[in-house]
Amino acid sequence: MQYLPLFVKLTDKPVLIVGGGSVALRKAGTLLSAGAKLTVVAPEFAAEFVQWQQQGQAELINGYFSPDLLDGKLLVIAATDNDDVNAAVYEAATARNMLVNTVDDQPKCGFIFPSIIDRSPILIAISSFGTAPVLARRLREKLETLLPQHLGPLAELVGRFRSKVKAKISGFAARRQFWEKVFDSDVVRDVQANQLPQAEQRLLQLLDQPQQQAGEVYVVGAGPGDPELLTLKALQLMQQADVVVYDYLVSPQIMELVRRDAERICVGKKAGDHSVPQQDTNQLLIDLALAGKKVCRLKGGDPFIFGRGGEEIQALLPYNIAFQVVPGVTAAAGCAAYAGIPLTHRDHAQSVQFVTGHCRPDGSEPDWHSMSKARQTLVIYMGLIKAGHIQQQLLAAGRSGDTPVAIIENGTRPEQRIVSGTLQQLADLVAQHQVSSPALLVIGEVVALQQDLHWFGQKPQAAVFGQTLTRMA
Ligand code: SAH
Repeated sequence: MQYLPLFVKLTDKPVLIVGGGSVALRKAGTLLSAGAKLTVVAPEFAAEFVQWQQQGQAELINGYFSPDLLDGKLLVIAATDNDDVNAAVYEAATARNMLVNTVDDQPKCGFIFPSIIDRSPILIAISSFGTAPVLARRLREKLETLLPQHLGPLAELVGRFRSKVKAKISGFAARRQFWEKVFDSDVVRDVQANQLPQAEQRLLQLLDQPQQQAGEVYVVGAGPGDPELLTLKALQLMQQADVVVYDYLVSPQIMELVRRDAERICVGKKAGDHSVPQQDTNQLLIDLALAGKKVCRLKGGDPFIFGRGGEEIQALLPYNIAFQVVPGVTAAAGCAAYAGIPLTHRDHAQSVQFVTGHCRPDGSEPDWHSMSKARQTLVIYMGLIKAGHIQQQLLAAGRSGDTPVAIIENGTRPEQRIVSGTLQQLADLVAQHQVSSPALLVIGEVVALQQDLHWFGQKPQAAVFGQTLTRMA
Protein backbone atom coordinates (compact mmCIF):
# COMPACT_ATOMS: atom_id res chain seq x y z
CA MET A 1 0.00 0.00 0.00
CA GLN A 2 1.65 3.17 -1.21
CA TYR A 3 -0.64 5.52 0.74
CA LEU A 4 -2.84 4.82 3.74
CA PRO A 5 -6.39 6.09 3.32
CA LEU A 6 -7.36 8.09 6.43
CA PHE A 7 -10.37 10.26 7.04
CA VAL A 8 -9.09 13.44 8.68
CA LYS A 9 -11.22 15.78 10.77
CA LEU A 10 -10.28 19.23 9.48
CA THR A 11 -12.86 21.36 11.28
CA ASP A 12 -11.09 24.59 12.35
CA LYS A 13 -7.69 23.12 11.50
CA PRO A 14 -5.23 25.55 9.89
CA VAL A 15 -4.33 24.73 6.29
CA LEU A 16 -2.07 26.77 4.00
CA ILE A 17 -2.73 27.02 0.26
CA VAL A 18 0.00 28.50 -1.91
CA GLY A 19 -1.59 29.82 -5.10
CA GLY A 20 -4.69 31.85 -5.88
CA GLY A 21 -5.80 30.55 -9.30
CA SER A 22 -8.36 28.02 -10.47
CA VAL A 23 -6.42 24.95 -9.32
CA ALA A 24 -6.02 26.37 -5.83
CA LEU A 25 -9.69 27.26 -5.90
CA ARG A 26 -10.76 23.65 -6.43
CA LYS A 27 -8.71 22.44 -3.48
CA ALA A 28 -9.90 25.34 -1.34
CA GLY A 29 -13.55 24.44 -2.04
CA THR A 30 -12.99 20.84 -0.93
CA LEU A 31 -11.12 21.94 2.19
CA LEU A 32 -13.79 24.49 3.11
CA SER A 33 -16.51 21.87 2.81
CA ALA A 34 -14.58 19.93 5.45
CA GLY A 35 -14.50 23.03 7.68
CA ALA A 36 -10.77 23.81 7.41
CA LYS A 37 -9.40 27.22 8.44
CA LEU A 38 -7.72 28.44 5.27
CA THR A 39 -4.78 30.77 4.79
CA VAL A 40 -4.07 31.46 1.12
CA VAL A 41 -0.92 33.17 -0.12
CA ALA A 42 -0.62 34.46 -3.71
CA PRO A 43 0.22 37.65 -5.61
CA GLU A 44 -3.33 37.69 -6.99
CA PHE A 45 -6.57 35.89 -6.23
CA ALA A 46 -9.55 34.55 -8.13
CA ALA A 47 -12.78 36.34 -7.23
CA GLU A 48 -14.18 33.47 -5.09
CA PHE A 49 -11.21 33.77 -2.74
CA VAL A 50 -12.02 37.41 -2.10
CA GLN A 51 -15.62 36.46 -1.44
CA TRP A 52 -14.53 33.76 1.04
CA GLN A 53 -12.36 36.31 2.77
CA GLN A 54 -15.30 38.70 3.11
CA GLN A 55 -17.39 35.87 4.59
CA GLY A 56 -14.61 35.13 7.10
CA GLN A 57 -13.90 31.69 5.61
CA ALA A 58 -10.33 32.35 4.44
CA GLU A 59 -7.44 34.63 5.28
CA LEU A 60 -5.70 35.98 2.17
CA ILE A 61 -2.05 37.05 2.16
CA ASN A 62 -1.10 39.12 -0.83
CA GLY A 63 2.49 38.16 -1.64
CA TYR A 64 4.81 35.20 -2.10
CA PHE A 65 5.43 31.98 -0.22
CA SER A 66 7.97 32.02 2.60
CA PRO A 67 8.63 29.08 4.93
CA ASP A 68 7.49 30.98 8.04
CA LEU A 69 3.93 30.80 6.65
CA LEU A 70 4.06 27.10 7.49
CA ASP A 71 4.19 27.86 11.21
CA GLY A 72 1.28 26.26 13.04
CA LYS A 73 -0.30 24.76 9.91
CA LEU A 74 -1.49 21.17 9.75
CA LEU A 75 -1.44 20.68 5.98
CA VAL A 76 -0.02 22.55 2.99
CA ILE A 77 -1.16 22.64 -0.62
CA ALA A 78 1.26 23.81 -3.32
CA ALA A 79 -1.09 24.89 -6.11
CA THR A 80 0.77 27.48 -8.16
CA ASP A 81 1.50 27.18 -11.89
CA ASN A 82 5.20 27.59 -11.18
CA ASP A 83 7.12 24.32 -10.66
CA ASP A 84 9.96 26.07 -8.80
CA VAL A 85 7.60 27.63 -6.29
CA ASN A 86 5.78 24.33 -5.81
CA ALA A 87 9.11 22.55 -5.28
CA ALA A 88 10.17 25.17 -2.71
CA VAL A 89 6.90 24.70 -0.80
CA TYR A 90 7.31 20.93 -0.94
CA GLU A 91 10.87 21.04 0.36
CA ALA A 92 10.17 23.52 3.16
CA ALA A 93 7.13 21.52 4.33
CA THR A 94 8.88 18.17 4.07
CA ALA A 95 11.86 19.52 6.05
CA ARG A 96 9.37 20.27 8.84
CA ASN A 97 7.80 16.81 8.57
CA MET A 98 4.56 18.35 7.39
CA LEU A 99 2.23 16.72 4.93
CA VAL A 100 2.13 18.53 1.61
CA ASN A 101 0.07 18.10 -1.53
CA THR A 102 1.64 19.40 -4.71
CA VAL A 103 -1.08 19.68 -7.28
CA ASP A 104 -0.55 17.48 -10.36
CA ASP A 105 2.88 16.34 -9.15
CA GLN A 106 2.32 13.01 -7.43
CA PRO A 107 5.99 12.37 -6.45
CA LYS A 108 5.81 15.59 -4.44
CA CYS A 109 2.72 14.55 -2.53
CA GLY A 110 2.81 13.45 1.09
CA PHE A 111 -0.96 13.14 0.86
CA ILE A 112 -3.42 13.18 -2.01
CA PHE A 113 -7.01 14.25 -2.55
CA PRO A 114 -9.06 11.20 -3.56
CA SER A 115 -12.22 11.26 -5.65
CA ILE A 116 -15.12 11.27 -3.25
CA ILE A 117 -18.51 9.64 -3.36
CA ASP A 118 -20.51 11.54 -0.81
CA ARG A 119 -23.47 9.90 0.89
CA SER A 120 -22.74 11.63 4.16
CA PRO A 121 -22.27 10.31 6.72
CA ILE A 122 -21.08 7.55 4.40
CA LEU A 123 -18.08 8.57 2.33
CA ILE A 124 -16.12 6.57 -0.21
CA ALA A 125 -12.72 7.75 -1.34
CA ILE A 126 -11.02 6.39 -4.46
CA SER A 127 -7.61 6.99 -5.93
CA SER A 128 -5.22 5.40 -8.37
CA PHE A 129 -2.43 7.67 -7.05
CA GLY A 130 -1.91 9.21 -10.42
CA THR A 131 -1.37 5.88 -12.20
CA ALA A 132 -4.76 5.52 -13.89
CA PRO A 133 -6.99 8.54 -13.30
CA VAL A 134 -9.44 7.57 -16.02
CA LEU A 135 -9.89 4.11 -14.53
CA ALA A 136 -10.43 5.66 -11.09
CA ARG A 137 -12.97 8.05 -12.55
CA ARG A 138 -14.87 5.24 -14.25
CA LEU A 139 -14.87 3.25 -11.04
CA ARG A 140 -16.24 6.25 -9.24
CA GLU A 141 -19.01 6.63 -11.80
CA LYS A 142 -19.87 2.98 -11.44
CA LEU A 143 -20.05 3.23 -7.66
CA GLU A 144 -22.07 6.43 -7.89
CA THR A 145 -24.73 4.58 -9.86
CA LEU A 146 -24.60 1.54 -7.57
CA LEU A 147 -24.98 3.34 -4.28
CA PRO A 148 -28.48 4.61 -3.68
CA GLN A 149 -28.97 8.17 -2.52
CA HIS A 150 -30.88 7.06 0.57
CA LEU A 151 -27.69 5.55 2.06
CA GLY A 152 -26.92 8.88 3.71
CA PRO A 153 -30.26 9.32 5.54
CA LEU A 154 -30.23 5.63 6.45
CA ALA A 155 -26.80 5.87 8.06
CA GLU A 156 -27.85 9.08 9.77
CA LEU A 157 -30.97 7.43 11.24
CA VAL A 158 -28.97 4.44 12.43
CA GLY A 159 -26.38 6.78 13.95
CA ARG A 160 -29.08 8.43 16.09
CA PHE A 161 -30.12 5.02 17.47
CA ARG A 162 -26.68 3.67 18.27
CA SER A 163 -26.56 4.58 21.93
CA LYS A 164 -30.17 3.51 22.49
CA VAL A 165 -29.40 0.10 20.97
CA LYS A 166 -26.21 -0.18 23.00
CA ALA A 167 -28.15 0.47 26.20
CA LYS A 168 -30.81 -2.10 25.32
CA ILE A 169 -28.79 -4.94 23.80
CA SER A 170 -25.66 -6.06 25.54
CA GLY A 171 -22.91 -7.88 23.68
CA PHE A 172 -21.25 -6.95 20.42
CA ALA A 173 -22.44 -10.02 18.47
CA ALA A 174 -26.08 -9.54 19.56
CA ARG A 175 -25.98 -5.88 18.55
CA ARG A 176 -24.51 -6.74 15.19
CA GLN A 177 -27.25 -9.28 14.68
CA PHE A 178 -29.85 -6.62 15.53
CA TRP A 179 -28.41 -4.25 12.94
CA GLU A 180 -28.32 -7.02 10.33
CA LYS A 181 -32.03 -7.50 11.02
CA VAL A 182 -32.67 -3.75 10.67
CA PHE A 183 -30.94 -3.60 7.28
CA ASP A 184 -32.97 -6.59 6.08
CA SER A 185 -36.21 -5.00 7.28
CA ASP A 186 -38.69 -2.48 5.87
CA VAL A 187 -36.84 0.28 7.70
CA VAL A 188 -34.70 0.53 4.56
CA ARG A 189 -37.74 0.76 2.31
CA ASP A 190 -39.24 3.49 4.48
CA VAL A 191 -36.07 5.57 4.27
CA GLN A 192 -35.94 5.01 0.54
CA ALA A 193 -39.51 6.29 0.29
CA ASN A 194 -38.55 9.27 2.43
CA GLN A 195 -40.89 8.13 5.23
CA LEU A 196 -38.45 8.88 8.02
CA PRO A 197 -40.92 9.01 10.95
CA GLN A 198 -42.28 5.61 9.90
CA ALA A 199 -38.74 4.21 9.60
CA GLU A 200 -37.99 5.46 13.09
CA GLN A 201 -41.19 3.90 14.46
CA ARG A 202 -40.36 0.57 12.86
CA LEU A 203 -36.83 0.65 14.26
CA LEU A 204 -38.25 1.21 17.75
CA GLN A 205 -40.60 -1.75 17.30
CA LEU A 206 -37.71 -3.99 16.26
CA LEU A 207 -35.80 -2.88 19.32
CA ASP A 208 -38.75 -3.82 21.55
CA GLN A 209 -38.92 -7.35 20.17
CA PRO A 210 -37.03 -10.02 22.11
CA GLN A 211 -33.59 -10.45 20.58
CA GLN A 212 -32.98 -14.12 19.98
CA GLN A 213 -29.44 -15.29 19.54
CA ALA A 214 -29.64 -18.37 17.37
CA GLY A 215 -26.46 -19.62 15.77
CA GLU A 216 -26.44 -20.81 12.19
CA VAL A 217 -24.00 -22.46 9.80
CA TYR A 218 -23.61 -21.37 6.20
CA VAL A 219 -21.82 -24.03 4.17
CA VAL A 220 -20.48 -21.94 1.32
CA GLY A 221 -18.63 -22.88 -1.85
CA ALA A 222 -15.88 -20.36 -2.60
CA GLY A 223 -15.08 -21.59 -6.11
CA PRO A 224 -11.62 -22.52 -7.40
CA GLY A 225 -9.76 -19.32 -6.57
CA ASP A 226 -10.70 -16.36 -8.75
CA PRO A 227 -12.71 -14.16 -6.36
CA GLU A 228 -14.95 -13.03 -9.22
CA LEU A 229 -16.28 -16.57 -9.45
CA LEU A 230 -17.90 -16.22 -6.02
CA THR A 231 -21.68 -16.14 -6.05
CA LEU A 232 -23.47 -13.05 -4.76
CA LYS A 233 -24.92 -15.19 -2.00
CA ALA A 234 -21.48 -16.44 -0.95
CA LEU A 235 -20.25 -12.87 -0.69
CA GLN A 236 -23.31 -11.80 1.28
CA LEU A 237 -22.88 -14.59 3.84
CA MET A 238 -19.11 -14.00 4.08
CA GLN A 239 -20.01 -10.45 5.05
CA GLN A 240 -22.61 -11.49 7.62
CA ALA A 241 -20.70 -14.20 9.46
CA ASP A 242 -19.22 -13.77 12.94
CA VAL A 243 -16.73 -16.56 12.26
CA VAL A 244 -15.30 -17.96 9.04
CA VAL A 245 -14.00 -21.53 9.15
CA TYR A 246 -11.96 -22.14 5.99
CA ASP A 247 -9.44 -24.50 4.48
CA TYR A 248 -6.35 -24.18 2.30
CA LEU A 249 -8.21 -24.23 -1.01
CA VAL A 250 -9.81 -20.88 -0.23
CA SER A 251 -7.52 -18.35 -1.89
CA PRO A 252 -6.10 -15.38 0.07
CA GLN A 253 -7.85 -13.03 -2.39
CA ILE A 254 -11.18 -14.57 -1.37
CA MET A 255 -10.35 -14.33 2.34
CA GLU A 256 -9.78 -10.60 1.73
CA LEU A 257 -13.53 -10.32 1.08
CA VAL A 258 -14.55 -11.73 4.45
CA ARG A 259 -15.94 -9.19 6.92
CA ARG A 260 -12.98 -7.36 8.45
CA ASP A 261 -13.78 -8.11 12.05
CA ALA A 262 -14.95 -11.69 11.57
CA GLU A 263 -12.92 -14.32 13.39
CA ARG A 264 -11.03 -16.58 10.96
CA ILE A 265 -10.24 -20.20 11.73
CA CYS A 266 -8.18 -22.30 9.33
CA VAL A 267 -8.95 -26.00 9.57
CA GLY A 268 -7.17 -27.44 6.58
CA LYS A 269 -3.73 -27.20 5.16
CA LYS A 270 -2.26 -28.76 2.04
CA ALA A 271 -2.22 -32.54 1.80
CA GLY A 272 0.62 -33.85 3.89
CA ASP A 273 0.79 -30.80 6.19
CA HIS A 274 -1.03 -30.63 9.47
CA SER A 275 -4.78 -30.37 9.16
CA VAL A 276 -7.59 -30.53 11.66
CA PRO A 277 -9.30 -33.98 11.69
CA GLN A 278 -12.81 -33.90 10.20
CA GLN A 279 -14.33 -34.90 13.53
CA ASP A 280 -12.79 -31.81 15.17
CA THR A 281 -14.01 -29.52 12.38
CA ASN A 282 -17.54 -30.88 12.82
CA GLN A 283 -17.33 -30.28 16.57
CA LEU A 284 -15.99 -26.76 16.02
CA LEU A 285 -18.97 -25.88 13.82
CA ILE A 286 -21.38 -27.29 16.42
CA ASP A 287 -19.73 -25.43 19.31
CA LEU A 288 -19.65 -22.11 17.47
CA ALA A 289 -23.27 -22.36 16.35
CA LEU A 290 -24.48 -23.39 19.82
CA ALA A 291 -22.68 -20.33 21.19
CA GLY A 292 -24.99 -18.23 18.97
CA LYS A 293 -22.47 -17.48 16.24
CA LYS A 294 -23.23 -17.11 12.55
CA VAL A 295 -20.64 -19.45 11.12
CA CYS A 296 -19.53 -19.36 7.49
CA ARG A 297 -17.94 -22.70 6.60
CA LEU A 298 -16.04 -21.62 3.52
CA LYS A 299 -14.85 -24.38 1.22
CA GLY A 300 -12.94 -24.46 -2.04
CA GLY A 301 -15.05 -25.18 -5.11
CA ASP A 302 -18.46 -26.62 -4.36
CA PRO A 303 -19.16 -27.91 -0.85
CA PHE A 304 -20.95 -31.03 -2.11
CA ILE A 305 -18.29 -32.13 -4.62
CA PHE A 306 -15.46 -33.90 -2.82
CA GLY A 307 -15.91 -31.26 -0.15
CA ARG A 308 -17.35 -33.17 2.81
CA GLY A 309 -20.13 -30.60 3.03
CA GLY A 310 -22.66 -33.38 3.46
CA GLU A 311 -20.79 -34.89 6.41
CA GLU A 312 -20.52 -31.55 8.17
CA ILE A 313 -24.23 -30.86 7.83
CA GLN A 314 -25.10 -34.35 9.03
CA ALA A 315 -23.12 -33.60 12.17
CA LEU A 316 -25.27 -30.51 12.83
CA LEU A 317 -28.61 -32.32 12.57
CA PRO A 318 -28.80 -33.79 16.12
CA TYR A 319 -28.38 -30.27 17.52
CA ASN A 320 -31.12 -28.69 15.41
CA ILE A 321 -28.67 -26.09 14.15
CA ALA A 322 -30.03 -24.09 11.22
CA PHE A 323 -27.95 -24.23 8.06
CA GLN A 324 -27.84 -23.06 4.46
CA VAL A 325 -25.79 -24.43 1.60
CA VAL A 326 -24.43 -22.20 -1.14
CA PRO A 327 -23.08 -23.96 -4.22
CA GLY A 328 -19.78 -22.87 -5.68
CA VAL A 329 -18.04 -23.27 -9.02
CA THR A 330 -16.38 -26.66 -8.68
CA ALA A 331 -12.74 -27.04 -9.74
CA ALA A 332 -13.70 -29.10 -12.81
CA ALA A 333 -15.97 -26.37 -14.18
CA GLY A 334 -13.70 -23.48 -13.21
CA CYS A 335 -10.39 -24.98 -14.32
CA ALA A 336 -11.80 -26.34 -17.58
CA ALA A 337 -13.34 -22.98 -18.47
CA TYR A 338 -10.12 -21.09 -17.72
CA ALA A 339 -8.07 -23.67 -19.62
CA GLY A 340 -10.31 -23.56 -22.70
CA ILE A 341 -11.39 -27.20 -22.38
CA PRO A 342 -15.11 -27.80 -22.89
CA LEU A 343 -15.79 -30.85 -20.69
CA THR A 344 -18.38 -32.11 -23.14
CA HIS A 345 -18.58 -31.48 -26.87
CA ARG A 346 -20.97 -32.96 -29.40
CA ASP A 347 -18.09 -34.24 -31.53
CA HIS A 348 -15.67 -35.38 -28.82
CA ALA A 349 -17.30 -36.29 -25.50
CA GLN A 350 -20.82 -37.34 -24.63
CA SER A 351 -20.25 -37.53 -20.90
CA VAL A 352 -17.97 -36.35 -18.14
CA GLN A 353 -17.09 -38.06 -14.88
CA PHE A 354 -15.74 -36.38 -11.76
CA VAL A 355 -13.53 -38.87 -9.96
CA THR A 356 -11.41 -38.68 -6.83
CA GLY A 357 -7.83 -39.86 -7.05
CA HIS A 358 -7.77 -40.51 -3.30
CA CYS A 359 -7.75 -44.09 -2.08
CA ARG A 360 -11.09 -45.25 -0.84
CA PRO A 361 -11.17 -46.22 2.85
CA ASP A 362 -11.91 -49.87 1.93
CA GLY A 363 -9.09 -49.95 -0.63
CA SER A 364 -11.48 -50.72 -3.50
CA GLU A 365 -10.65 -49.49 -6.98
CA PRO A 366 -12.93 -47.31 -9.15
CA ASP A 367 -14.46 -48.83 -12.27
CA TRP A 368 -11.45 -48.35 -14.58
CA HIS A 369 -13.17 -50.30 -17.31
CA SER A 370 -16.06 -47.84 -17.63
CA MET A 371 -13.60 -44.95 -17.58
CA SER A 372 -11.51 -46.42 -20.35
CA LYS A 373 -14.08 -45.93 -23.11
CA ALA A 374 -13.22 -43.25 -25.65
CA ARG A 375 -15.30 -40.07 -26.14
CA GLN A 376 -15.82 -39.35 -22.49
CA THR A 377 -14.01 -36.90 -20.25
CA LEU A 378 -12.53 -37.75 -16.87
CA VAL A 379 -11.81 -35.04 -14.36
CA ILE A 380 -9.73 -36.33 -11.52
CA TYR A 381 -9.61 -34.41 -8.25
CA MET A 382 -6.77 -35.04 -5.80
CA GLY A 383 -5.10 -37.15 -8.47
CA LEU A 384 -1.58 -35.78 -8.44
CA ILE A 385 0.03 -38.33 -6.13
CA LYS A 386 -1.72 -41.19 -7.86
CA ALA A 387 -1.06 -40.00 -11.44
CA GLY A 388 1.14 -43.04 -12.23
CA HIS A 389 -1.47 -45.47 -10.94
CA ILE A 390 -4.27 -43.71 -12.82
CA GLN A 391 -2.27 -43.81 -16.07
CA GLN A 392 -1.44 -47.48 -15.62
CA GLN A 393 -4.99 -48.57 -14.79
CA LEU A 394 -6.60 -46.63 -17.64
CA LEU A 395 -4.10 -47.99 -20.19
CA ALA A 396 -4.53 -51.52 -18.85
CA ALA A 397 -8.31 -51.16 -19.15
CA GLY A 398 -7.91 -50.13 -22.79
CA ARG A 399 -7.93 -46.33 -22.96
CA SER A 400 -5.67 -45.17 -25.77
CA GLY A 401 -2.19 -43.96 -24.80
CA ASP A 402 -2.69 -41.05 -27.21
CA THR A 403 -5.66 -39.67 -25.28
CA PRO A 404 -4.91 -36.00 -24.58
CA VAL A 405 -4.45 -35.01 -20.93
CA ALA A 406 -4.08 -31.68 -19.17
CA ILE A 407 -2.84 -31.07 -15.66
CA ILE A 408 -4.19 -27.76 -14.42
CA GLU A 409 -2.34 -26.32 -11.46
CA ASN A 410 -3.85 -23.38 -9.54
CA GLY A 411 -6.71 -23.13 -12.03
CA THR A 412 -8.47 -19.73 -12.42
CA ARG A 413 -5.78 -18.01 -10.32
CA PRO A 414 -3.17 -15.60 -11.67
CA GLU A 415 -0.53 -18.33 -11.26
CA GLN A 416 -2.53 -20.90 -13.28
CA ARG A 417 -0.27 -23.34 -15.10
CA ILE A 418 -1.29 -26.00 -17.58
CA VAL A 419 0.87 -28.93 -18.54
CA SER A 420 -0.47 -31.05 -21.34
CA GLY A 421 0.43 -34.14 -23.30
CA THR A 422 -0.97 -37.63 -23.62
CA LEU A 423 -2.17 -40.32 -21.25
CA GLN A 424 1.00 -42.38 -21.71
CA GLN A 425 3.02 -39.38 -20.52
CA LEU A 426 0.82 -38.45 -17.56
CA ALA A 427 3.09 -39.49 -14.67
CA ASP A 428 6.19 -38.16 -16.44
CA LEU A 429 4.49 -34.79 -16.99
CA VAL A 430 3.66 -34.47 -13.30
CA ALA A 431 7.22 -35.33 -12.27
CA GLN A 432 9.02 -33.41 -15.00
CA HIS A 433 7.09 -30.19 -14.47
CA GLN A 434 7.00 -30.56 -10.68
CA VAL A 435 3.29 -29.91 -10.61
CA SER A 436 2.07 -29.02 -7.15
CA SER A 437 -1.28 -28.95 -5.40
CA PRO A 438 -4.00 -27.90 -6.04
CA ALA A 439 -4.04 -29.54 -9.43
CA LEU A 440 -6.71 -31.22 -11.49
CA LEU A 441 -6.23 -33.93 -14.12
CA VAL A 442 -8.42 -33.73 -17.22
CA ILE A 443 -8.28 -36.74 -19.51
CA GLY A 444 -10.14 -37.02 -22.80
CA GLU A 445 -10.35 -36.06 -26.43
CA VAL A 446 -11.76 -32.61 -25.53
CA VAL A 447 -8.40 -31.57 -24.03
CA ALA A 448 -7.01 -31.05 -27.56
CA LEU A 449 -9.52 -28.20 -28.06
CA GLN A 450 -7.58 -25.97 -25.69
CA GLN A 451 -5.23 -25.15 -28.57
CA ASP A 452 -8.02 -23.11 -30.12
CA LEU A 453 -10.15 -22.19 -27.11
CA HIS A 454 -7.44 -20.98 -24.77
CA TRP A 455 -8.07 -17.43 -23.51
CA PHE A 456 -6.81 -17.06 -19.94
CA GLY A 457 -3.14 -16.50 -19.14
CA GLN A 458 -0.24 -17.00 -21.49
CA LYS A 459 -1.01 -18.43 -24.93
CA PRO A 460 -0.14 -22.13 -25.08
CA GLN A 461 2.46 -23.34 -27.52
CA ALA A 462 0.96 -25.28 -30.41
CA ALA A 463 1.06 -28.89 -29.29
CA VAL A 464 0.51 -31.94 -31.40
CA PHE A 465 -0.93 -34.44 -29.03
CA GLY A 466 0.82 -37.76 -29.11
CA GLN A 467 4.05 -36.26 -30.43
CA THR A 468 5.19 -33.39 -28.27
CA LEU A 469 5.11 -32.42 -24.65
CA THR A 470 3.76 -28.95 -24.21
CA ARG A 471 4.07 -26.80 -21.21
CA MET A 472 1.70 -23.91 -21.03
CA ALA A 473 2.58 -21.52 -18.26
N1 SAH B 1 -14.88 -29.11 -3.28
C1 SAH B 1 -13.81 -28.85 -4.20
C2 SAH B 1 -12.87 -30.00 -4.35
C3 SAH B 1 -12.10 -30.34 -3.11
S1 SAH B 1 -11.00 -31.68 -3.36
C4 SAH B 1 -14.42 -28.46 -5.56
O1 SAH B 1 -15.61 -28.57 -5.79
O2 SAH B 1 -13.65 -27.99 -6.42
C5 SAH B 1 -9.48 -30.84 -3.65
C6 SAH B 1 -9.03 -31.01 -5.07
O3 SAH B 1 -9.74 -30.12 -5.91
C7 SAH B 1 -7.58 -30.66 -5.30
O4 SAH B 1 -6.73 -31.73 -4.95
C8 SAH B 1 -7.57 -30.40 -6.79
O5 SAH B 1 -7.58 -31.63 -7.50
C9 SAH B 1 -8.93 -29.75 -7.00
N2 SAH B 1 -8.82 -28.28 -7.05
C10 SAH B 1 -9.48 -27.42 -6.27
N3 SAH B 1 -9.20 -26.15 -6.62
C11 SAH B 1 -8.35 -26.20 -7.64
C12 SAH B 1 -7.69 -25.24 -8.46
N4 SAH B 1 -7.87 -23.92 -8.27
N5 SAH B 1 -6.88 -25.66 -9.44
C13 SAH B 1 -6.70 -26.98 -9.66
N6 SAH B 1 -7.29 -27.94 -8.91
C14 SAH B 1 -8.12 -27.57 -7.94
